[in-house]
Amino acid sequence: MKKVELHLHLDGSVNTNLLNELLKKENIVIDDKFYVTDKDKNLSDYLKKFDYPLMVMQTSEKLTAIAYQLTLDLQKDDVIYAEIRFAPFKHTKKGLSLDDVVNAVLTGLKKGPIKTSLILCCMRDASLLENKQVVDLAFKYNCAIDLAGDESLYATSSFNELFSYIKSKGVPYTIHAGEASGKQSIKDAISFGTKRIGHGVRDVDQEIINLYKDEDITLEVCPTSNLNTNLVLDIKDHPIYELYKAGVKVSVNTDNRTVSNTDLNKEYQLLKNNFPFKDEDFKKMNEYAIMAAFITDEEKKELIKSLD
Ligand SMILES: [Zn+2]
Repeated sequence: MKKVELHLHLDGSVNTNLLNELLKKENIVIDDKFYVTDKDKNLSDYLKKFDYPLMVMQTSEKLTAIAYQLTLDLQKDDVIYAEIRFAPFKHTKKGLSLDDVVNAVLTGLKKGPIKTSLILCCMRDASLLENKQVVDLAFKYNCAIDLAGDESLYATSSFNELFSYIKSKGVPYTIHAGEASGKQSIKDAISFGTKRIGHGVRDVDQEIINLYKDEDITLEVCPTSNLNTNLVLDIKDHPIYELYKAGVKVSVNTDNRTVSNTDLNKEYQLLKNNFPFKDEDFKKMNEYAIMAAFITDEEKKELIKSLD
């Protein structure tokens, strides 16, 4: 089945063979796994897994190679369009400028066989000044914006000024919310005017379902990632089916192919094995995803046609 993916982190989706090769070249010995195991309990543990890919994602050459390889991996997964996100400041440790970083990733993506867009992540633990620089970059390179990082430590409500700035620039955006925090974080994200939420599945109740429908929100749901961070202990407890049946626009995503040790086909299989989803439901979810994508109406029409 042809698919689109809206929620995919570049640093969490480095091809495993390529990552091993790059770590070896730099004589980096890893003392832990770069994917989650049963030892890892929550979002904070999960986020530590990004340390390894970030060690090597510090030159233009490597960023281009990693971005290009991801498009090849996605093509194998029958993905026809993907929005790939990353936080530019995490790749400046060895002297790259923010422009170098974005150019290197764009070069790799453009070389790839599938259609892609780039989302730049503002980070919850970064300063307002740094995050505004990321917004300026997104404006300059025609990218979208995301807010990522540890939602349990940095409340969504404290980013009011950042989102005022994003809106003043006219840059499209999505927000991670309802992952490590629940209802209030989701409400705060929606109060900033977002039409997309990364996750949005913690503490789902009728009030939240109504809010999603009234505000025409599209959710970027990442089932395996939610299991990894213990948001749900059993996939059967995941609210994705309830949300979909209630008429909320949900899309299916991997979040992090490598860190979560998954791919998009596995995510659909997991849902199919545990919920009464039919193929037409999955097609509908892909249509929802396309309609919420950061592309033109013309491009959306083309992609919807390509799903058949
Ligand atoms: Zn994410």
